Amino acid sequence: MANNNKAASWQHIFNEIKEKITDEEILKWIKDLKTVSIEANTITLEAPNKYIKMWVEDHYIDYLKELLKNAFHIIDANIKITLKGNTESEKDKSACLAEEKEDKHNYNNDYYSVPLNKQYTFETFVAGKSNRFAYAACMNAAKGFERLNNPIYIHGDVGLGKTHLMHAVGNYMRINFPKKNVLCVTGELYLREFLNSLKSNRLNEFNNKYENTDVLLFDDVQFISRGEATMEEFFFLFSKLYSNDKQIILTSNSLPDDIIDLDRRLSSRFQSGLIVEIGTPSVDEKIAIIENYLKINKYYIKDEVIKFVAENIKSDSTRDLLGVINTIVVKGQLYNVEITVDYIQSELKNFFLQRDRVISPNEIIQIVCDYYNIKLVDMQSKSRSVNIVIPRNMAIYLIYKNTPSSLASIGAIFKRDHSTIKNSINKIDKEIAANNDYTVNTLKELSNRMKVFQR
Ligand code: ADP
Ligand code: MG
Repeated sequence: MANNNKAASWQHIFNEIKEKITDEEILKWIKDLKTVSIEANTITLEAPNKYIKMWVEDHYIDYLKELLKNAFHIIDANIKITLKGNTESEKDKSACLAEEKEDKHNYNNDYYSVPLNKQYTFETFVAGKSNRFAYAACMNAAKGFERLNNPIYIHGDVGLGKTHLMHAVGNYMRINFPKKNVLCVTGELYLREFLNSLKSNRLNEFNNKYENTDVLLFDDVQFISRGEATMEEFFFLFSKLYSNDKQIILTSNSLPDDIIDLDRRLSSRFQSGLIVEIGTPSVDEKIAIIENYLKINKYYIKDEVIKFVAENIKSDSTRDLLGVINTIVVKGQLYNVEITVDYIQSELKNFFLQRDRVISPNEIIQIVCDYYNIKLVDMQSKSRSVNIVIPRNMAIYLIYKNTPSSLASIGAIFKRDHSTIKNSINKIDKEIAANNDYTVNTLKELSNRMKVFQR
């Protein structure tokens, strides 16, 4: 392999890797590697800092070897990772030290931690009944530390905004208190990282990093109960941060006591501050969340469609709600169709509750008129002939029982006052109570015909 095409070579490998990796995290780790040399069966890559070097060595070396083998047909490919600046002069070494300081910053904030999602701010979060305590607690914590608010433990089902709120605290603090060291991690990442630093004798670095945070955002803490030693470690970290008045915010899918296998000491620590729940949003909150989302993204959906989605979506998760809204927007743009309630009811029916559609008074009138072969004007007339009175009473009764129409509005349809309408309804009720064959059978038949409309 010639050295002069080394940049192209790494690019080649990197492109292959990109094709194969769906995981953003891996890409984040390897995208900054550069080729130093490619000799015989060894490729030397340079990492911009020691944390990337460590992480890649620990996690992705085998994977990279495999890719190298495929790309260059080298059977026992060797990969060496060097640190940027390591082979250079004294002057560069001091630059390197300065860089190490920078590295520490990276280590703390960008690499072993979860990057804060910039979209997850207080401004983009819709506060409502289901989440107002969690919102207020997080807002308070972001503005200033209060011992009584420490730790904040947010629990609730998946997709209800726990991560969003937690990142909102981080984003707020990074802007308003940039000197504060905010660290965001997930239970899963913490567990992995801990085991990894145990294996590679880097426990000190691991501890330093966590103990030096001013604000620890710990998402999905339930994952740590998978490891005894991890819980032990976390207990010490927690105690230390807590006694130094460092803000800790935890999220979980359940209450501390309901986390299976969670160490009792941790569970009691988690309950020593503020426990707030995020519940499922009401229809009104769902509407507000949808409207907020559309505004942020400059999308448009008709009000009646928004209402339909909020009222009928099967899932209570906000994540699913926004997913459906996205699907609707995309479908509208892709097929260039106007998005109506009818359209989503037929195209996206799996997302929605299958409720019987409410039948309208007009549809009932149509059914009754067809059945008796008369017209609405006949029923509106003053006629007292049984051929008209019976269908009129049937129609009035069915409208009253099957639609939200008031006596007065039914009266308006049939050009009668509301007491006449009431009499008609009473009459039919009595016939049903008396088991009048004709009335019972006819109502059954008409109801069957109505079902066709309601489907
Ligand atoms: P969780 O961590 O509870 O599983 P997330 O915080 O990941 O849920 O939220 C899922 C999605 O729903 C995210 O896109 C988030 O921005 C959005 N979301 C949840 N609740 C709200 C809310 N009250 N206002 C605006 N967006 C919200
Ligand atoms: Mg989450």
